Amino acid sequence: MSFLMNSSQYIDYIHRAAKKIAENKEYISELDAVTGDGDHWANLNLGFENLIAEGGQIRQMPMDAAFMKIGMIMMSKIGGSSGILYGGAYMAAGRAISGKAEITSEELCKALDVMVQDMMERGKAKPGYKTMIDALYPAVEAYKKALEEGLDNHLAMQMVKKAAKDGAEATRGMEAVKGRASYQTGKGIGCLDPGAVTMSYQIECLCDYISETFCS
Ligand code: ADP
Ligand code: MG
Repeated sequence: MSFLMNSSQYIDYIHRAAKKIAENKEYISELDAVTGDGDHWANLNLGFENLIAEGGQIRQMPMDAAFMKIGMIMMSKIGGSSGILYGGAYMAAGRAISGKAEITSEELCKALDVMVQDMMERGKAKPGYKTMIDALYPAVEAYKKALEEGLDNHLAMQMVKKAAKDGAEATRGMEAVKGRASYQTGKGIGCLDPGAVTMSYQIECLCDYISETFCS
């Protein structure tokens, strides 16, 4: 069964994701200190703080404009590789849902698919390169499959959430091809990619929000 999600509901999800990210400051900063330059948590957290600050205004927008606005905030406030990747991805998703005031489950899945495609193109990365794509890509594939199989929202969200979590966990065994971890001896093998972990947090929060809002 599908649902209709508006930008005010999307901002409710953003609040959950912001909280989850804020709560994991030490853990994420430590992960990025091992394989990167230690700023991933601070970058992403600043982006989410700015989203919350502008959330009241975004709630009034149609979904396409809301995604464009979220993309612009992420692009300008997060900084680093993740700012460009998240910013570009949200703006691409905004264009993909052009004219939509609210989006269905199928349109959300499409928007997430456009996001991961944009990230792969922009970052010249693929699944298996030990990046945030390793959480988002399997989640999108699981979402497509769940829709094809006609699973109910709750079950679909359980599958999507699990795929993202497993994908992030799988980065532990991967050799980094892109990003700062690829410059290290050992290429980060044995360590989780911080960007994949924070991506899985966002997907988890989105799935839980959808399950609770549209399944009861
Ligand atoms: P930076 O590496 O520029 O300091 P951040 O610390 O904010 O940026 O983000 C690091 C994360 O960005 C990595 O953990 C990885 O998931 C992701 N990342 C880095 N480069 C790429 C890329 N080319 N494609 C996809 N994701 C990338
Ligand atoms: Mg960094």
